[in-house]
Formats: sequence, C-alpha cells, structure tokens
Amino acid sequence: SLTLGIVGLPNVGKSTLFNALTRNDVLAANYPFATIEPNVGVVALPDPRLDKLAEVFSSERTVPATVSFVDIAGIVKGASEGAGLGNKFLANIREANAICQVIRVFDDPDVVHVDGRVDPSSDIETINTELILADLQTLEKALPRLDKEGRTHKDKRPVLDAAKAAKEILDAGRTLFQAQNEVDLELLRELSLLTTKPFLYVFNADEGVLTDEARVKELRELVAPADAVFLDAKVEAELIELDAESARELLESIGQQEAGLDALARAGFHTLGLQTYLTAGPKEARAWTIHRGWTAPQAAGVIHTDFERGFIKAEVISYEDLVAAGSVAAARSAGKARMEGKDYVMADGDVVEFRFNV
Ligand code: GDP
Repeated sequence: SLTLGIVGLPNVGKSTLFNALTRNDVLAANYPFATIEPNVGVVALPDPRLDKLAEVFSSERTVPATVSFVDIAGIVKGASEGAGLGNKFLANIREANAICQVIRVFDDPDVVHVDGRVDPSSDIETINTELILADLQTLEKALPRLDKEGRTHKDKRPVLDAAKAAKEILDAGRTLFQAQNEVDLELLRELSLLTTKPFLYVFNADEGVLTDEARVKELRELVAPADAVFLDAKVEAELIELDAESARELLESIGQQEAGLDALARAGFHTLGLQTYLTAGPKEARAWTIHRGWTAPQAAGVIHTDFERGFIKAEVISYEDLVAAGSVAAARSAGKARMEGKDYVMADGDVVEFRFNV
C-alpha cells in the first residue's frame, strides 16, 4: 500500500509524532488480521459520511480508509555523503511514495536544535539539499550508461534527454517534483529519484504558534503548494490516551478544532493523490481507497481482483443523493441511482454496488 516516509532533522519531534501514529488503535480495531511492521504508523481518514451511511444501512460497524507513515531514520546535513545514517536512510526513503517532513516550530530551551536555532525555512532547505544531492549522485552515476544507450538505441534518446534536463534542474537547487511540468519524470522512473516524490510538511508547533493565524499563514505560504499540517506532537501523544470527551477538551484548550492526526491523515491522502468511494450493507459501511481518476473496474479491483476481472457494471448513488433520499430504494425511485459501465471515472463519495461475473 502507499506510504509517506517521515523525515526531519534530529530533535524536531519525529519520534513523538510517530509514537502517536503507532499507538492509535485504528488497525487493531478495523483490520484485526493485518500484520504491521514496527516502523509503520497508521491513521484513519476521518469521514463523517461513514457514520451516516451506517445509520441508513443499519450497518454493524464502520471501516475507514487509512494512511500509512513509515519512520525513516533521522537525516542530518551530509547524509547524502554517508553522514549519520546515510545510505540506509536513502534506501528507506526510496520505498516511500511521498515524503512527510516534520519541522520544528516549538521553542524549548531544554531541547537542543541541531543548528542552534528554530528556523523552519533553513530546516526545509537542509533536507531539500540532501535529497537533491542524493539525486545528483544517482544521475551522475547513471549518465554514462544512459549516454551510451542513447547513442546506440534511438528509442532510448528521450531517457537521456530527460536525465540531462533533470540534472540541470537539480543543479539549480530545485526538486524534480517542483519541476514536474518541465521534464517527463515517467522516463526516469527506473532511477527511483527521491525528489520526484510529493512533499507534505508537518509543523510541530506549540500553542503560541497554533493560535497565531498570521504565523500559520506565513508557514503555509512557505511550503505552498504542498500541504501543511500544524500540530503539537506532545499533545497528539497525550490525545490518543484520552476518551473522546477529554480529548475534545484538551484540543479546545489549545484552540484546535480537531486532532492533528486527523488533519495529517487528510493531508497525507491528498498528497498521495488518493480518494475514497463507499460501500455499505448490514455488516459494514466502508471507505475504499483508490487513486484519483480511477475507473469503476479499477475501483472494484480494490475489493477483490475477481471484481475487476468480472466487472459488468456499477450501481452508483452519490452520497448526498443517498442521504437525501434516505434509502437505496428511495434513491432508485427518485432516479438517483446510475448504472455505470467500465469507462466510468469514480467520483469522491460515490456509494457503489458492483455487479460482476465470477
Ligand atoms: P526526533 O529526534 O525528531 O525524533 O525528536 P523527538 O520526538 O525525540 O523529540 C525531541 C525532544 O523534543 C523530546 O524531548 C520531545 O519530548 C520534545 N518535543 C517533541 N515535540 C515537542 C513539542 O511539540 N513541544 C515541545 N516543547 N517539545 C517537544
């Protein structure tokens, strides 16, 4: 499944956040047979539609979509040259589908900052530079081979050109993700370049920052168009130990409407380019994860590969229409249930029943 790799300088609160991610009980509750690696933390995508659907269908339970985060050992200046955990770090990060950088905004004289001061934009720069340097190394190693292949096989020429263009972008200090409209990254897929991955930023802040709208806006703009999440990792670690009522009180006391992990799940989902569709019945109301732009048969394949292979059609009712009608039967007689074929592109919040051959 798709994962975001958590990176950040030492002492920014990665472990604290990751503890909160692994101790929340979403997996145990919803996927009792799932085995999970110790370095993976899972959060549920908050979705109030599931509770409503469970009401309409009298479902026994709800099963939310989830997002996974992998803890990637700390990056330091010089990591691309083997400082700190160097190469192990790079191997782990290659496997992640997106990069989630935790940035320290909290001030605490008792917690040492590696560069001596709290400076978000310099921290972002440090991590970016290490990833860019790592990609430049990869490219420099590959270029002689790509050059040879480009000269002997005409059809390999575009790969060589893309590699050269990528090198120029990185030399100018930009990530390939930022330049995705200038070079066909698909051609460079075999190189597993790190900076082609989308970024998500988590600002680990204290109450003073969380309630300071101007500061939050400024930090958002610093990383835009990437998603930014603001949370207090220490509070998140406390929240998961509390019942719903006490959790809400604690959040209110620091001026927050929802848990940071909820916001993180949503942002992670968005950064990975995912969306959900819904199914419901007496057993469960459930959200299924698909890529944006997937067709109905692809979506069916997430439930079972047989569903994709034997796909005939999908009965689709939009969540809003279903809730307004009050039941599937009422939605059908109101003409709100559509029969969609194999070319139908799924919309977020489609409530679906697949028809298929086995
Ligand atoms: P890591 O090195 O990035 O994994 O950072 P840790 O999670 O180990 O945190 C480093 C130190 O900062 C620990 O003493 C944490 O308790 C503290 N810390 C983490 N998050 C916060 C926060 O939001 N506020 C404050 N004041 N301290 C924090």
